[in-house]
Amino acid sequence: MHFELPADLADLQSRLLAFVAEEIDPITPGVDSESPPADLRREIARRSDAAGFYQLAVPEADGGLGGGPRVITAAREALALSGNPLASRVLGSGPGIMRLADNEEQRDELYAPVLRGERTAAFAFTEAIRPGGAREPTQAVRATLSDGRDGFLVTGAKGFVTGGAASDWLVVVANVPDEGTALLVVDRDAEGVTEGEIGASIDGSTHSPFFFDSVAVPGSRLLGNVGDGLPRAMQNIDRMRLGVAADCVGWARWVTRTTLERIEGPHRSGQPLAEQQQVQTIFADMVADTFAARTSLYQAADAREADEQTAGTQVATAKWLASEWLHRTVDRAIQLHGAQALLRGHALERLYRTSRSLRIAEGPTELLRLTVARHVRQNGIDAL
Ligand SMILES: Cc1cc2nc3c(=O)[nH]c(=O)nc-3n(C[C@H](O)[C@H](O)[C@H](O)COP(=O)(O)OP(=O)(O)OC[C@H]3O[C@@H](n4cnc5c(N)ncnc54)[C@H](O)[C@@H]3O)c2cc1C
Repeated sequence: MHFELPADLADLQSRLLAFVAEEIDPITPGVDSESPPADLRREIARRSDAAGFYQLAVPEADGGLGGGPRVITAAREALALSGNPLASRVLGSGPGIMRLADNEEQRDELYAPVLRGERTAAFAFTEAIRPGGAREPTQAVRATLSDGRDGFLVTGAKGFVTGGAASDWLVVVANVPDEGTALLVVDRDAEGVTEGEIGASIDGSTHSPFFFDSVAVPGSRLLGNVGDGLPRAMQNIDRMRLGVAADCVGWARWVTRTTLERIEGPHRSGQPLAEQQQVQTIFADMVADTFAARTSLYQAADAREADEQTAGTQVATAKWLASEWLHRTVDRAIQLHGAQALLRGHALERLYRTSRSLRIAEGPTELLRLTVARHVRQNGIDAL
């Protein structure tokens, strides 16, 4: 599949692929990638740091390498393409959602500890139903707190908070009546916060619902301003979407490569499966989907790097195409591999579950399609 990246990105990708082959593959054979031991996770981080990759997503001002959208896209694509399911751990998470903490006090109290890996924050965006069936949007009412400070009282329910059980803080999107949305950093163990039953989804990740009953949150825990909570949350979602699209494209390339080896190899029928025209057309569909998804991925990464007005819609499109097409690419690959690919633990079986979940996570495909329709209706057919 010929798609030439600029020299800087191509060089980064080949260095990452060599690093995974030389430093990560030898220490990860047979490891359950959905629950790797803590010491192995630390060893991957240590090796990655020594090789100069771990800090790629950390801003330069904080001593990192300041990788922007193009660089992070290329890095994630390469790590997925390596075929090692633990390779994603080569990139440290950087400040994650705490990137949105942008005043001096918040940078000391919230951002720096997350960056140092001492504290973690989870993103509480999706509204949930309370036990008993009540559904109310999560609200933050302005109030004077018991210690006399200005703040908010948060009430509501959030669901599917990934990693919420192990996090120190929940970054909650809440509605402030008559004023708009706010992003509030809530202590996970604050009075009035209750965690519901942890659920594990088919991709191996775990999620918790949280219930908030008049939880007191000081004004210093407001990220940005009241009224810009949703746009700020969307900045985080946009970054996640681009990353997911890059992962999907890397995995799809790995799947097409692996499938080519499979169908060109010996088969009990006496001739390779690739000699069958029906097999060739299925395989061609896999290649074409992957090529098209990759093209739209780098187009979106460039648009995001340049902060173009269409970037959000391009990123939404790239995530939609990459996740949907990865899923059908994996499905076709399983068909061509036959029964062995259905065995639990097979790389394609794992990717089938992962890709299924990515069609909903970070925005279900239908909502991404609405984003595209809205953008083009507002800006004309040439707007994308
Ligand atoms: C792996 C994973 C990790 C997640 N992690 C987090 C997290 O960390 N924090 C967090 O807050 N949330 C998280 N989520 C939740 C995720 O954001 C939601 O699942 C997603 O936004 C969809 O919401 P929902 O599940 O409530 O489905 P609903 O909103 O009930 O929608 C169900 C389906 O209806 C259709 N649909 C919905 N609205 C429309 C519409 N307007 N037009 C057409 N069709 C529509 C879509 O097909 C959609 O899939 C995670 C989800 C997954 C799968």
